[in-house]
Amino acid sequence: MLKIAVQKSGRLYEDSVKLLKECGIELNNGNKQLKTTSCNFPLEVFFLRDDDIPQYVFDGVADVGIVGENVLLEKQKDITLVRKLGFSKCRLSIAVPKSFEYNSVQDLNNLKIATTYSNILQGFLTRNNSNAEIHEISGSVEIAPGIGLADAICDLVSSGSTLFTNGLKEVETILYSEAVLAANKNLSAGKQTILDKLLFRINAVKAAKNNKYIMLNAPNSQLKNIFTLLPGMKSPTVVPLAEEGWSSVQSVVNENEFWEVIEKLKQFEAEGIIVLPIEKMIV
Ligand code: ATP
Ligand code: ZN
Repeated sequence: MLKIAVQKSGRLYEDSVKLLKECGIELNNGNKQLKTTSCNFPLEVFFLRDDDIPQYVFDGVADVGIVGENVLLEKQKDITLVRKLGFSKCRLSIAVPKSFEYNSVQDLNNLKIATTYSNILQGFLTRNNSNAEIHEISGSVEIAPGIGLADAICDLVSSGSTLFTNGLKEVETILYSEAVLAANKNLSAGKQTILDKLLFRINAVKAAKNNKYIMLNAPNSQLKNIFTLLPGMKSPTVVPLAEEGWSSVQSVVNENEFWEVIEKLKQFEAEGIIVLPIEKMIV
């Protein structure tokens, strides 16, 4: 049985549970419990505060955990980042009042910066030879300058609207973060095997999300050109159409290259292009 810690409620909760579900792992009951087990995968799920997850994974109370990379780095526990998960993306940034004339890191010298991320911030200040002072607080960091508690803040940002409404502007980004799967360093062979199975499924889910299934019709004279655009997983599938001289081509295309590929396909006389989502992809 592998024990996984996920956030009890908050920004990570939904996507964490959704990922397990997409991996075909059914959970027995909702999040109102402290823990639950899966009926079809050897997994026990603990619902915890995200800040506690690195410690629990380090102690072995949980074997693995899903947590923001920001929390993982801040807590400085000796655990392994196994895989980035691609959700809950945000950045840890320094912000100052809008009226502050900011040009470079040197402008932070002698300022007082409020944050809940004192370890990560200290690393940044040290690397930049800054003597700014860190004022560690536990929440509502964004109001600190407004109430005279600090000159600047260092906090998580996604859209920037919270900064804006508090009269602040972002001046330095010190970390790009997303949810990650982290693991205890001394997993037994049995637990490692289960983790490998879980990772195999996560990879299949993520690969599917990053790719689309594409079907199109093209004149046979253009097939060679089209194959260069659609290498597929091994090679594209080609089926003759009832109309002589034409074929249907089926392949997989990466999300990032998608629109560019479609444009070029049209130049190669492709018609009737259909694009479908892929549920799982084993590469
Ligand atoms: P808990 O009660 O579990 O301690 P919390 O209030 O510390 O919850 P949340 O606000 O739910 O935590 O954020 C959890 C994680 O979501 C953050 O550590 C970060 O990795 C990620 N995140 C993504 N976008 C944002 C954002 N705009 N603000 C804060 N966190 C964000
Ligand atoms: Zn938290």
